[in-house]
Amino acid sequence: MAGNTRKKGTLRPDTTLAPVEEPEAEVYVRGLPGCCLRSFKEAVVARGDDQRLAELRCSSCGRGWKVTSSLDERVVERFDTHGGTRATDGTYPAA
Ligand SMILES: [Zn+2]
Repeated sequence: MAGNTRKKGTLRPDTTLAPVEEPEAEVYVRGLPGCCLRSFKEAVVARGDDQRLAELRCSSCGRGWKVTSSLDERVVERFDTHGGTRATDGTYPAA
């Protein structure tokens, strides 16, 4: 964890999320409604709490989102990723 000098609050664009009620309706993080995007960023940059989140719950509109895939290590550390498609770094065992 030491030496994290990367810009805070900047998320990689290749994170995808899906509404809890609509797992098929996957969107990229930038496609989130503004309030949900804000809640997501807050959740990712929040510190002092090791607990992983099963889903994002927007504090404004109350919508629930599951992270389906991400190559952003801060997102992966913070959220359980669902959907079975782990980061495509070649280490995921072939079916
Ligand atoms: Zn929202």
